[in-house]
Amino acid sequence: MPRIDVGVLGATGPVGQQFITRLDSHPWFRLAWVGASQRSEGKRLSEIGWQLSQPLPDAVRDLVVELPAPGRAPRIVFSALDAAAAITLEPEFAAAGHIVISNASSHRMDPLVPLLVPEINADHLTLVPAQHRQRGWSGAVVTNPNCSTVFLAMALGALREYMPRSVVVTTLQAISGAGYPGVASLDIVGNVIPRIGGEEEKVESETKKILGTATDDAIVAHPMTISATTTRVPVVDGHTEVVSVAFDPGPPPLDCLREAFESFSGPPQALRLPSAPERPIVFLDQPDRPQPRLDVDRGAGMTVCVGRLRRCAVLDVKFVVLGHNTVRGAAGAALLNAELMLAEHMLD
Ligand code: NAP
Repeated sequence: MPRIDVGVLGATGPVGQQFITRLDSHPWFRLAWVGASQRSEGKRLSEIGWQLSQPLPDAVRDLVVELPAPGRAPRIVFSALDAAAAITLEPEFAAAGHIVISNASSHRMDPLVPLLVPEINADHLTLVPAQHRQRGWSGAVVTNPNCSTVFLAMALGALREYMPRSVVVTTLQAISGAGYPGVASLDIVGNVIPRIGGEEEKVESETKKILGTATDDAIVAHPMTISATTTRVPVVDGHTEVVSVAFDPGPPPLDCLREAFESFSGPPQALRLPSAPERPIVFLDQPDRPQPRLDVDRGAGMTVCVGRLRRCAVLDVKFVVLGHNTVRGAAGAALLNAELMLAEHMLD
């Protein structure tokens, strides 16, 4: 099958650069177009500040950055736009017939926009026809969650049959989650910043939407209550989350929860999608794991690690979760969404 041409909006930031590297070897999609702001317009990709340890792929060194105008880009575009730009640009692209597969927060809580974690809520794609009907778009906007939300949602998604009721989560988030240049070095080196603006609200609301129930034109949010504290720590890649959960019928046996983490799987695994890890969640037995430095790249950054599962004296159980924020928390998640849509003939 010939690869399908795709574009990347916001191609020059850290998430955009993740898209560029991941698309280089992608079996289904080929990067053919890149867009960013006036600051980058007219530059070749070889002239932008490259920030990843993997080199800029040779095949796209001469691709020239354009201003993001609908019509010039391929029909399928991944968006790594700054949220302020995404709020107007993404609907403009969708109205012009583009399928926008976005990382930005701007439209995640729009009632007609799927907030996808394909292992959990592939059925939320039923909202796409509602976008056509109610907005008149010939294209669509489909989003992936905030980088902290996705790891919590995957852990809770694995435990869904035990009916989580109340959740307390504290995140320890990597510096790369703040984009480039991100947090000033004098603020973060040897320090912990106890607040990330807007992040706690996103974790609390997005998780409930992801675990919610789809109707034809809305998602009914999961009724659980979530209390989040989000912090920035001096780690380069990998968000760690300390989670306590209470369940509706009371505490399930720990070995059942462990089995639920280990057997967690979904449509990406059944369909053998190219970016799907064999195991979406890996459970680690060692008492000092997961650690960002040792575990963040499991499953090429698409696997979430869970460890330290034990009883909680306040809620029922507690555990630690780790995931790669710019891969499963951003570009890898969007690619998985696009692969699911292609496999389900929604990009035909
Ligand atoms: P970033 O470093 O701020 O990069 C944003 C991109 O948007 C750049 O390519 C920038 O182009 C472009 N842009 C900004 N204003 C624009 C405008 N008016 N018109 C066109 N392009 C414009 O952000 P990032 O960290 O790569 O993140 C990208 C998006 O993903 C954000 O919405 C972020 O919240 C979200 N996200 C990030 C992470 C993470 O771990 N970093 C995780 C999940 C989601 P120029 O370079 O030309 O300015």
